[in-house]
Amino acid sequence: PARTRFAPSPTGHLHLGGARTALYAYLLARKTGGQFLLRIEDTDRKRLVPGAEEEIMEGLRWLGIEWDEGPDIGGPYGPYRQSERKHIYQQYAQQLVEQGHAYYCFCSPQRLEAMRQEQQRRKEPPHYDGTCRRLDPAEAARRVAAGEPHVIRFKTPKEGTTTVHDFLRGDITVENRTIDDYILVKSDGYAVYHLAVVVDDHLMKITHVIRGSEWLPTFPLHGLIYRAFGWEEPIWVHLSVFLKPSGKGKMSKREAADLMKDGYSIFIKDLKGLGYLPEAVVNWIALMGWSYDDHTEFFTMQDLIEKFTLERLNPAPAAINFSKFDHFNGLHIRALPPEELARRVKPFFLERGYQVDDERLLRIIPLIQERIGGLDEAPDMAGFFFKEDVIPPAEDLVVKGLTAAESLDLARRILKALEALSDIRAEVAEPYMREFVAASGLTAGQVFGLMRVAITGQKVSPPLFESMEVIGREKVLQRMAQAVR
Ligand code: GLU
Repeated sequence: PARTRFAPSPTGHLHLGGARTALYAYLLARKTGGQFLLRIEDTDRKRLVPGAEEEIMEGLRWLGIEWDEGPDIGGPYGPYRQSERKHIYQQYAQQLVEQGHAYYCFCSPQRLEAMRQEQQRRKEPPHYDGTCRRLDPAEAARRVAAGEPHVIRFKTPKEGTTTVHDFLRGDITVENRTIDDYILVKSDGYAVYHLAVVVDDHLMKITHVIRGSEWLPTFPLHGLIYRAFGWEEPIWVHLSVFLKPSGKGKMSKREAADLMKDGYSIFIKDLKGLGYLPEAVVNWIALMGWSYDDHTEFFTMQDLIEKFTLERLNPAPAAINFSKFDHFNGLHIRALPPEELARRVKPFFLERGYQVDDERLLRIIPLIQERIGGLDEAPDMAGFFFKEDVIPPAEDLVVKGLTAAESLDLARRILKALEALSDIRAEVAEPYMREFVAASGLTAGQVFGLMRVAITGQKVSPPLFESMEVIGREKVLQRMAQAVR
């Protein structure tokens, strides 16, 4: 059984990339009968965003990704918030110092800045120059005891190479001299990610670290820290990168914000309001970097749990494709039981100010289920069912190919025909009106188009006769009469 985790930093919105990382980790845990953990990595105090932790949890829950251990529910290896584990990291950092794998560094921010500028001038990659690495450990310990501000740095070996193994990419080997003496504990006493992630994944008995490939550059460092502790490494899986729809590069903040204009977003919090089903989000992101075979595209969470394997992950970058997203949303809308679809579209009607009658809503579901691409489209398509009156613009009542006067005359004749019809059920009304069309010398498009505008107030609507049946005879006649006045 795998023990996996999602370890977000609460520094911003939960986005598609984060959600996919969480999903894969969740799927592996569920598939193997293991556990999935949520761990909040909040040691970078300057970057914290208030409310971000709640937003992450809400987003995951909305997607149906439930954790077995986490900051809110606890668990045997807690606490699950890194800011509450400060003492643990300090103890392990201490251990590294004592064993000669780390050292205290007293260099001031000013000195480090001057060093950085000098390296830039010499066109060297930025790195720590090792001044405090050469201090006598006893002397350094005395300065720490005297309260001198300090950080703890990792003592990276300067000779040889380090090889780490990524499940998808194989061995990655780097020259040790290219690995900096990274800070493990900052002067405020908080551990940085590099130390905290290693300590926590070890203590929490994580078997598979599934994370974004932005961590590939520091991956060898993490391997070195494991080895310094003498701990067994987890299986490492660095996922593919998400590229913007054009396939050219990663999406910028600005581009991400601009998406809302087109009804899209990369932020999970926005997707519900935009009319997307969590089932569709899960299906879509699951396939951005994983496949079951070369043709199956519809997956529920349960399907994914059964079928997911790490072997079928694809490390190649994946371009975000929003038309695919719409496609999946449509598939999952059609797959919902009608009562469930009614429950999901209802808030969209309410938000637009419609008084929703549940019984009527359930009756219109079959008329829209095949026709909406998003839940948000339902009020546009079917809001008229909940309106007392529809008042189409006069010009919409002018039929293509006819003058205004001829259109009015046609409307009168339609009204008359409908008045003579006592049974408005679609299977009666439709053939009846088709006969009317045949006798009129006009096309079905002309006649039904006029009826549609008069009765629904819209040029596009669910099937006309089924809609009339739901609206009811009385109201149909009333609206038709309205159109001839
Ligand atoms: N806190 C890191 C992040 O948000 C976690 C990376 C990991 O999963 O180890 O990117």
